Amino acid sequence: MDLRMIANQRTVRSTVTAIISAFPFPDARMAKHIVCLTFDFDGISGFVARGSPSPSPVSRGEFGPRVAAPRLLALFKKYRIKTSWYVPGHTIESFPEAVKAVVDHGHEIGHHGWRHISPVEFSREEEEAELIRGNESIKRISGEYARGYRSPGWDLSPNSVELFIKHGFTYDTSMMGDDYGMYYARRGDVLDLHKPAQFGPTTSLVELPISWSTDDAPHFEYMRTGNAIRPGMAKAGDVLENWIADFDYMQKTTDWGVLTFTCHPFISGRGHRIMLLEKLIQNLKAKGAVFQRADRTVEEFRKRNKVPKAA
Ligand SMILES: [Zn+2]
Repeated sequence: MDLRMIANQRTVRSTVTAIISAFPFPDARMAKHIVCLTFDFDGISGFVARGSPSPSPVSRGEFGPRVAAPRLLALFKKYRIKTSWYVPGHTIESFPEAVKAVVDHGHEIGHHGWRHISPVEFSREEEEAELIRGNESIKRISGEYARGYRSPGWDLSPNSVELFIKHGFTYDTSMMGDDYGMYYARRGDVLDLHKPAQFGPTTSLVELPISWSTDDAPHFEYMRTGNAIRPGMAKAGDVLENWIADFDYMQKTTDWGVLTFTCHPFISGRGHRIMLLEKLIQNLKAKGAVFQRADRTVEEFRKRNKVPKAA
């Protein structure tokens, strides 16, 4: 290699360095389409919380830790994918080995209540106690407190956002205000239908939005509660087609976006549905999708979008 070539290479390298350092967030200029596969690992807590503690519903939930979770962990190991699991304290304390396996495979553990009861049901004090109790279970099994929270029942109380910030959470994933974009959550909205909405201040809590359309439960899980029946039982191929189209649209319309799927081991761990997940991974990977944990995705968002001062 002659000296002129070495000099040229140095010039190219220093020009590239100058261009990169001109932008505060180099990643901001690179297209990235992220997929967060997330699991609400309810175990048997959902059935017990809904007043069904008898053997058959309990066994229906138990399918998750006994059979489905090991299958899912093997699938993600095969494709070297890290995912996020929102786990009630009840599941952690009842099935510690199954949850420890999730931790040991490098997946994120997020908060999903202790008893799998929506915060809407609680007073502020009860909600805070449940938050602390769940977080202590998570610390015991994983060695660290949760960074993310997902509400059982996908609803939050007027106190939730403030309590999440107080207890060190960086994000929530229970709201639906966007599809491919993340955003900083508000607190303290005043809503009176006779007046225009008064929106509260934006906080430092990041929202990773979800949708019923990218949740496995309404598509697949037959459920009878009281007089209501949710039929479920969709064809896996139909759901796969919808979910791939959601990714395609993200790739067409955004430079940096996140698509979040919410699955439940006891639902998505069954044959035709776990095959759907494998086909989804294969299809989206071939299109350039980046599969990553929600907490890591939230950190990227915070680097790209200044954290608001109000908390
Ligand atoms: Zn749940």
